Amino acid sequence: MLSSIEAGLRRPWYRLKLPTELEAEYRAETARQDGFYVQSWLGLFTFFNVLSLAIDRDVFGPEGFIVPLAMTLGLFCPVALLAILSLRGRPSTVRISAAALATVLVDIVVVLNSARLAPPPHADVYVVLASIVPLVVGLIAPMPFRHGLWFCGASLALYGSLVVAFGLCSLDRNGLPLLVAGLILLPLKLIYSREWDGRNSFLVGLRVKLQAEALARANARLTVLSETDSLTALPNRRHFSERLEEAWRLAAEQDAWLGVILVDLDHFKQLNDTAGHAEGDRCLIVVAEALQACVEARAGLAGRYGGEEFAVFLPGADPPAVRVAGEALRLAVSDLAICHPGRPSGARMTASVGVTAARGRARECGIQVPDLLKAADFALYAAKSDGRDRVEIFMPAANANRLEEGAGRAQVSTPPA
Ligand code: GH3
Ligand code: MG
Ligand code: MG
Repeated sequence: MLSSIEAGLRRPWYRLKLPTELEAEYRAETARQDGFYVQSWLGLFTFFNVLSLAIDRDVFGPEGFIVPLAMTLGLFCPVALLAILSLRGRPSTVRISAAALATVLVDIVVVLNSARLAPPPHADVYVVLASIVPLVVGLIAPMPFRHGLWFCGASLALYGSLVVAFGLCSLDRNGLPLLVAGLILLPLKLIYSREWDGRNSFLVGLRVKLQAEALARANARLTVLSETDSLTALPNRRHFSERLEEAWRLAAEQDAWLGVILVDLDHFKQLNDTAGHAEGDRCLIVVAEALQACVEARAGLAGRYGGEEFAVFLPGADPPAVRVAGEALRLAVSDLAICHPGRPSGARMTASVGVTAARGRARECGIQVPDLLKAADFALYAAKSDGRDRVEIFMPAANANRLEEGAGRAQVSTPPA
């Protein structure tokens, strides 16, 4: 699409038409216009026609004046008013051009008829006026060039026919009508330039729109990439931590429980060392899928926290619930039955799980997200030191102050040396 736009912008000056797919879009976008602009000009035009009756009266005298009066009020004004009424709302360009053309054709008839009847010194003024009418309306009405051709062509044809029919251009008179007839074609230049500029603005606008859309898509993709772990497609540590902060804030607002879980694969390094790094990657992918399925069912969020370590939070999970969830995650890993070649024969890949939970009001007592993660980490440490493939729990609220000193560990288990 962008290449078509560039091609459109480079087209030669004599080619208004855009590349096919853009032409249809341009026409659809410009098929309707605000009718008020043309309405107001036609209204003004009609007003001046009525005002010009004063001149007609001076030219024709009280008796002869009846003809231009009848023509103006009986023919021109009704047609002009109908044209104005037809342009309510957002009329199509065809309707705008037709309204402009109808008004102009009738006015040419009225003015040239006055030229026919006016005494010689005044006839030429009407002849000139009749050619100025399409000139002015053609300049004002925002019609497409293809309509402009019809508009100017029809106006010129009627003007020429009437000039001949009314004998306004016979050999014994001057050649003024022939000269001023050229005025009728003048709007074509402006109509062409206006449409050329309009089409180019459309192309530039479309290019800006497409580029903005492409940029928005690229930004959205970058956001996803910056939030996602490329191997497992889980939220990465940074994104998980942000979501956990939000969840903890929400829990504090609602004084709800929030469960936090850390899952660490057991002896994973040995898997890498024996089966190879690629096998290790495959293992991480399937474990991530299993954990995510398990967590999604509990309306929580799982993320990749580090190498072979995953983190989970579960809104609304109190200590018993988070413990059950931790057990479900542990089983989800061992149920995958991933063979662990680095372990005694028949051993499966297992995971150790540390869980914690805190109630939202603990936030007021200074328990923050790092404290929750620290508590889950202590619990995980305990699970590892107690033999792995197990779930341990550690409560941050009760141990918040002692966690900093490392004293909380002793309450669960002694870390390996
Ligand atoms: P423990 O049971 O005590 O947790 O032992 P472990 O071997 O699982 O833990 P350790 O921390 O000693 O080793 C973790 C290994 O995970 C080391 C590292 O090479 C591996 N690892 C980290 N990230 C990736 C990864 O993206 N792909 C693969 N294949 N291995 C990874
Ligand atoms: Mg491990
Ligand atoms: Mg680890």
